Parts: sequence; C-alpha cells; structure tokens
Amino acid sequence: MAKTPTQLFIGGTWRDAADGSTFDVLDPSTGDALRAVANATPADGHAALAAAVAAQESFAATSPRARADMLTRAFELLHERIDALALLMTLEMGKPLAEAKGEITYAAEFLRHFAAEAVRIDGSYQVAPAGGARFLVTRQPVGPCLLITPWNFPMAMGTRKLGPALAAGCTSVLKPAQQTPLSMLALAQILKEAGVPDGVVNIVPAMDAGAVMEPLIRSGDARKLSFTGSTKIGKVLLEQCADKVLRTSMELGGNAPFVVFDDADIEEAVAGCMQAKMRNMGEACTAANRIYVHSSLIEDFGQRLAAQMGALTVGDGTQEGSKVGPLIDDAAQDKVDSLVRDAVERGAEVLTGAQRPEGKGYFYPPTVLTGVSPDAQMTSEEIFGPVAALTPFETEDEAVTAANNTPYGLVAYVFTNDLRRAIRVGERIEAGMVGLNQGVVSNPYAPFGGIKESGLGREGGSSGIEEFLETKYIGIAMG
Ligand code: NAP
Repeated sequence: MAKTPTQLFIGGTWRDAADGSTFDVLDPSTGDALRAVANATPADGHAALAAAVAAQESFAATSPRARADMLTRAFELLHERIDALALLMTLEMGKPLAEAKGEITYAAEFLRHFAAEAVRIDGSYQVAPAGGARFLVTRQPVGPCLLITPWNFPMAMGTRKLGPALAAGCTSVLKPAQQTPLSMLALAQILKEAGVPDGVVNIVPAMDAGAVMEPLIRSGDARKLSFTGSTKIGKVLLEQCADKVLRTSMELGGNAPFVVFDDADIEEAVAGCMQAKMRNMGEACTAANRIYVHSSLIEDFGQRLAAQMGALTVGDGTQEGSKVGPLIDDAAQDKVDSLVRDAVERGAEVLTGAQRPEGKGYFYPPTVLTGVSPDAQMTSEEIFGPVAALTPFETEDEAVTAANNTPYGLVAYVFTNDLRRAIRVGERIEAGMVGLNQGVVSNPYAPFGGIKESGLGREGGSSGIEEFLETKYIGIAMG
C-alpha cells in the first residue's frame, strides 16, 4: 500500500488536481478513509484529453509487435504483483482476497489476449467485379477514446477496455469509479513500466464525473466512448455522444434470469446458482437476479441453496476464511435491505439471512427468499447483493416468458439435461450471453455483452478489438 499512486496520471506524469482538491476512498469493511486521491477538475480532464490527442498519431504508427510486447509485459507485471494488487482491491472494494486475486488473473488475461490480437489486425484486397479498379480495405485505430469504468470489478473493467484500445493503437482517457480509483492508478504505473508511451493512457479519478467527462464527450476531440456502468447513466451518455457522433460501446446493467428445469441435475444447478449469485457478493451485472425453479424441485433446491448460503463466512475480505465481504457503501446496503423487506412484505418466505447487521462496515448476510412475487421490486431491479430470489414455474413457456419479461438482456442461465430443450430455450432467451449448465460466462476469450437495454457492442473475444478499429476502403483506379 505504501507506494500506491494517488495522483492524476496525465501525459505520463503524476500530478495533483489543478485546484489541489482530493477525495477520500473508503474501506467498505469499516467505512473509514483509506487514501485521499486527487480529484480531477474539468481543466484536468481537458489536459488529459489533450495529452491523448497529442500522442495518438505516433502511437498509431507503432508496430503491432511493439504494442503486443507492451501488453505482454503488463500482463507479466500484473502476475508478479498479484498479491499487492489483490490486497489493494480488497481494501478499496471489499471482495475477499481470493476473489480479488481471481480478478487480477482475469484482468491480466485481457492484456495477454489483446497482445495476440494486436498482431492479427488485417484487411483485404479485391479486384472490383466490373474490373478496372481494386479495393484495398484496411483497419485503423478509431482515435482518442474516453473510457469510463464501474467500481465492482476495479481492475478487470479497465483492462477489458485498455487491452483492446492499446492493441488497436488508440490513446485514451480513463475515468474510474470514485469508490475504487486505486486499482486503475496502480495499473497506470504498470503500463508505464511496461513501456506504454507518455500520453497514451491517462487516468482521471473525479468526484463529479459529469462535470469532467461531458465537456470531453462534447469536445469532438475524442472519437469514441466505451462505458461500463448502469443503464441509467449509459442512456445519458449516449445522448451526449450523439452531438459529435462518437462511436460507443455500452456495457450496462442486467437482470439475469436463472432457470432450473425439472430435468436438471439439482446438485449442479445449486452449485451453478452459488457461482452466479455469489461471485463478487452478488455485485455483478451478470448476477442471477431472478431464479425460476420448476415447482417439483423448488423446495429441495431452496433448502440446499439456503444451507450453502447460510454456511458462508461474512467478514472483512482481508481476513482468512472470509467468503463474503461488505457491500460497496451504505447506499448499497440500504438498497439491498429495502428490496428484501419489500419482497417479504409481498409474501416471500425467508429461508436464510435477511437480517441487516449492526456495527461498522456495509455487510449483508447471504439471503435466500422463496415464493418471491413477480411484482416484488427485486424482480425488476438489479439486487446487487447476496440475495437469491426464488420463484416457482410450471411450464417451459411460462419460464421463458418470465425470463424475457425485462428491458434488460445481458445474460441468462439455463439448467437442463435435455439437449433439445437447451437449444430451444437458449435460442428463445433474449440475452447476449447464455450460461448452459454453468453459473459463470465471463471469459476474456469470448464476446461479452448484452442486448436490449443492457448495451451495445462486445468486449473480449475477437469482437473486443473491433470496437476500437475503423474500416477504411481505398479505391484504386487501374485503367
Ligand atoms: P454507474 O453509477 O453508472 O457508474 C459507472 C461509472 O460512470 C462510474 O465511473 C461513474 O462515476 C460514472 N458516471 C456516473 N455519472 C456519470 C456522468 N454523468 N457522466 C460520466 N460518467 C458518469 O454504475 P456503478 O454503480 O458504478 O456500477 C454498477 C452498474 O454497472 C450496474 O448497473 C452493473 O450492472 C453495471 N455493470 C455492467 C457491466 C457490464 O459489463 N455490462 C459490468 C460491470 C457493471 P462515479 O463513480 O463518480 O459516480
């Protein structure tokens, strides 16, 4: 922790905010201040974008191999420093150390993946069908990018954007979430050591995200916005981007259905549910939010799930044996508590948990509710906490209709041992991703993203770099 950077990273140097202001990053397991971090002003935002614009042409001209080497070195450094980076993440975000290490590994993998993609950017050459001309199609970096990341995966949401941006030859200004800026500042230090040139990556933590980012979006100097966060803020940003017709990638909120059919392996389904629900204490866009279980299984499923959820140790993520850390802040704790109360008032039965603890920190116990009414608030809102909401169903049609009854479409989980049903339901489910008999879909090598109000574009996989490339066609006269 001693050497953790806390200043703005602009043009390859560390500096204080223009007005000298700072804000506190809190430890969610105590609510106490952890570090004071420089609070970017709009002038700092402009300076960061100016640095990115100035570096764009020369960075775009670097060889793909040179960019791949920088990413590979950064990948190695993340692994070399995994213990310190994981501790930093646990302190600022709350997830248990083992999960924080898992996230650093996942985050590093985006760098390794996009190092390999950097050297595979290609184009095409074609004789015009009518003859007399040639078509040369080439790919170019879109230009300076604005990147905005959320607090729930403080490192991975950054590398999932910076990896492909760097591979494609784009410079960027990244604004991390105000609750968790330290991981991105640590990454900036690593990227510098890995040889990323000055000005190519700039990091501007800020208390007033809108005041800093809106002028940059509207300036016309950036060519793209890649945002991960809530659908509500994503919609505001899409409108702002329309002004200068910025390219956009939007990784937004979810409301994932988790459907267990009567032919599923119940043990496998409970294990999958534990993963889909409890990864990141339920603070994930991919978290199972509505759990639909066939009526013939729901009692057994509920008891097994409650036994496993109830046995998890809740506590400060830095403590050995702690499996469930605190929620991110008091607002998150209030929200989860009020969603649980609302569901109970509307008839849900508590199988375990549901008691908000007293004392310091923003903890909430793993909770299982069954018989959750379709009109409970938690069926239409992201719970973003360790609360499993079970609802019975009878028929396949009923389950699919309920699963699709949401404006969101990020991910769905389906548990069945009937191949035809798996394919049928997989095709009918309105989501960008489907976990079939598995509770985790996130993988750097697969296209991550949603449909409907869950977003636009894909991150990871081979699609990830496409988001940072433009296609240019050069028509060549041959007559
Ligand atoms: P959020 O409130 O939308 O914030 C996300 C980021 O946007 C933060 O950096 C935030 O800064 C910034 N921001 C807020 N208002 C802004 C504005 N007017 N202009 C520019 N930037 C602004 O979301 P969150 O609470 O941090 O994250 C949780 C949400 O993210 C959930 O809905 C979750 O589902 C979603 N998420 C989606 C994915 C995905 O891949 N689809 C992945 C992870 C999370 P401040 O911190 O300063 O407010």
